[in-house]
Amino acid sequence: MKTSTLGLTNKMLIAGPCSAESYQQLREIAKGIAEFNINYFRAGVWKPRTRPSEFEGVGVEALNWLQEIRKEFSLKVCTEVANPNHVEQCLASGIDALWIGARTTTNPFSVQDIAEALKGEKIPIFIKNPLNPDLKLWIGAIERLKKAGIENICAIHRGFSLTDNGDYRQTPLWQIPIELKRIFPDLNIICDPSHIAGKSELVESLSQTAMNLGLDGLMIEVHHNPKEAKTDSKQQLSIEEFKSLLNSLIISKTEENILPEKINILRKEIDEIDNKLIELLSERMNVSNKIAQIKKESNISVLQMNRWNKLLFDRMEYAKTAGVSESFIKEIFELIHKESVKLQDEIIKIN
Ligand code: PEP
Ligand code: MN
Repeated sequence: MKTSTLGLTNKMLIAGPCSAESYQQLREIAKGIAEFNINYFRAGVWKPRTRPSEFEGVGVEALNWLQEIRKEFSLKVCTEVANPNHVEQCLASGIDALWIGARTTTNPFSVQDIAEALKGEKIPIFIKNPLNPDLKLWIGAIERLKKAGIENICAIHRGFSLTDNGDYRQTPLWQIPIELKRIFPDLNIICDPSHIAGKSELVESLSQTAMNLGLDGLMIEVHHNPKEAKTDSKQQLSIEEFKSLLNSLIISKTEENILPEKINILRKEIDEIDNKLIELLSERMNVSNKIAQIKKESNISVLQMNRWNKLLFDRMEYAKTAGVSESFIKEIFELIHKESVKLQDEIIKIN
C-alpha cells in the first residue's frame, strides 16, 4: 500500500465527493485534496437512491470528467459499479479501481453479473459490506470476484442497516469485519466512516476507532461545499475538516511481536479468567439440566416468563453495582438464557 503524507502512514486512503456533480465541482475538490497523497479520488457516477425522484448521478459523462481529473492532478480515480454495463464503461474509460456498493453486495445475482463482466481484468475492486449484517453475503461477494480471477480485492466496512441505528446512519458492527479478517487474514479491510456516520461530526471519532482496530485504511466523503452537495450533504467533510481529520488521527502499530511484556502478563490473567467463565457456564448449564428433569416430571413448561423477567432485571441491577454496562450484561444473559432454554427443550423431548 502507498503511504499517505498526513497521518495515514501505510494505510489506504480514498477521498472525494459522494457524487460527481459537475466537472467544476470535481476540480475544486481534487485541487483541495490532491496534496494529501490520497491513493484514490472517489466520486459516484451512478447513484443508487432510495427514491427515483432523487439525484441519481450524471452517468457516463462523469467518467470523462474523472479522466480529466486523473490527468490534471495525477490522481488515481475510482467509482461505484452496480451492473456489467457500468463495468464495461469504466474499463473503457480507464478508471483505476471500482467499488461495489452495499445495496449491490446484498444481491448475489448482481455480484455474479459484475464478476463475469470483470473476468480476466486486473483492476482493483473494493467490496462494501451488504446492507444487512450477514457476513456470509459479504464473503460470497468476495468469493465470486476471486473466482472471476480478480486478485486485488479490498473490503469496506460501511456500517449495517438495523431497525435502530442509534446516533448513526448505519450501525458499525466492528465484530463483523474483524471476523472477516480472521477468515481472510490477507484481505485488506478499510472503513467508510462517512456512510456509518451520516453526519460530519461523527466521522473523526469513527475513523479513529477504525484505526484503533487496525483496519487498513479509510474511504471518506469530501466536498468543497458540503451544504450544497446533491447527495449526502450532512456527512461530507469540507476540505478543511478533511485536513484536520488527517492531522489528528493517531495510527498505532499492529504488529504482535512488539508488545510490551506487561501486556503478555495481563493476557495470561485474561486467559485464566476466561477459562473460569467457561467452567462456570458449564456448571450453570448442569444446574439448568437438573431443573429440566424436574420440569419434565412435573409437566411444567420450559419458558417461565416471570422467572425470566425477574432474572434479567436482577442481573442488570447487579451489573450496576459491579460497574459493568447493563446493556452488555443484558446481551450476555439473553444468550445464556437462549442456550439454557434450548438445552431444557432437548431434555424434555427425550423419551
Ligand atoms: C457511496 O459510497 O457513495 C455509497 C453509495 O455507498 P454505500 O454503498 O456504502 O451506501
Ligand atoms: Mn454517499
